[in-house]
Amino acid sequence: MNIGRMVAGNGLHWNGTERSTMSCDALWINAHLAAMTPERPYGVLRDAALAVSRGKIEWMGAMKRLPPEMISGAKQVFDIKGVWITPGLIDCHTHLVYAGNRAKEFEMRLQGVSYEEIARRGGGIRSTVAATRAADEDALFRQSARRLISLMAEGVTTVEIKSGYGLDLQTETRILRVARLLGQRFPVTVCPTYLGAHALPPEFEGDSDGYVDFVLREVLPKLASENLATAVDVFCEKIAFTPAQTERIFKAAIDHGLKVKVHAEQLSDQGGASLAAKYGALSADHLEHLPDAGARAMARSGTVAVLLPGASYYLRESRIPPVEMLRRYQVPMAVSTDCNPGTSPVGSLLLMVNMACTLFRLTPEEALAGVTRHAAKALGLEDRIGTLEKEKDADFVVWDMSDPAELAYSVAFNPCLQVIRRGAVVRSSISPTSALRRNSGETLVDHVPR
Ligand SMILES: [Zn+2]
Repeated sequence: MNIGRMVAGNGLHWNGTERSTMSCDALWINAHLAAMTPERPYGVLRDAALAVSRGKIEWMGAMKRLPPEMISGAKQVFDIKGVWITPGLIDCHTHLVYAGNRAKEFEMRLQGVSYEEIARRGGGIRSTVAATRAADEDALFRQSARRLISLMAEGVTTVEIKSGYGLDLQTETRILRVARLLGQRFPVTVCPTYLGAHALPPEFEGDSDGYVDFVLREVLPKLASENLATAVDVFCEKIAFTPAQTERIFKAAIDHGLKVKVHAEQLSDQGGASLAAKYGALSADHLEHLPDAGARAMARSGTVAVLLPGASYYLRESRIPPVEMLRRYQVPMAVSTDCNPGTSPVGSLLLMVNMACTLFRLTPEEALAGVTRHAAKALGLEDRIGTLEKEKDADFVVWDMSDPAELAYSVAFNPCLQVIRRGAVVRSSISPTSALRRNSGETLVDHVPR
């Protein structure tokens, strides 16, 4: 039995126009889809096929509805024999462009040396700022590429990258140029974010308002005119920048046509989430100390809560974000690595999916939505990516698993078989089905477990 006869035999009707135009660049058959659309758990569609044309999802649906012309007209067919496809993973909060690392400090702390003593010896964020300022573009690219490759190996097709380890004009722009270059050299979409208000640079010691003036006067106009960032982030915290300074930066960023987001309520309640909501921020991130009013404001403005279990784990935080409150107000929750050298030197988004469940008590479905649909919204890209839907970008991952909950359940067994970005296979351990076999009349549908 061939596909054509099977489809016809099921009595399905195709109109003439549809029949004549049905073709595609590549087709995945005998798949289970976790489309991550919200109308049913995981957006599951079993025994399905997905077709790609010109970088977009052209068609998806049940195998029994697959137009026969689609299979004969496809340039490539991948028979994936009943394994799963999800949207490409999205890591919506990283600081992965920096130089050096802080392994020595990690060791010192475990040998009993205090934070204060480490800071006195030039450690902490200042050591990363010094190393990053000293690294040229090539060195910064090479060191950062390793971290990006690690994320991509687990099916990450979109990544946000923040600056914030330069703090002067020259280094911040270098970091953002490296972020852009990573997106050009690797098959991954990079969303660059300017995080000048990350820490106070040594040259502005004791003058945080003066530093904010510098950010507004010198840095933001240059970034906006050179298109080096699409969003601006602020670390709003007692040890960083005040709500008033955050608001000044938000206003200026919006005036330059940039989106805003915030590191908020990580160590204390500063009202950063409410402020983010007031300015229509894409996301407020961390949120361990989020109050009820902040969650309500975020729900109203559609601001995504980005949860960062890697930082929580690394800092051995006992306080976790108020997940039940976020659920109650239906604030979308994203999950991310926060990949950074100080508090989350993490290169695995799947590990974060697991930790979002084990540490923060998200369900596996919530955690997977957190690295797909809701992560897309945290980047303002929900119209293009984050779910499997017709006409969205063909960014997706084929996983060797029998249930989507496996992505949250296991640790460090990377089940990624194939990564597709904008319709192109960028990583694969699957071969396309041979044309000989496709044309021989041999069935291609019997592999679906029923
Ligand atoms: Zn961060």
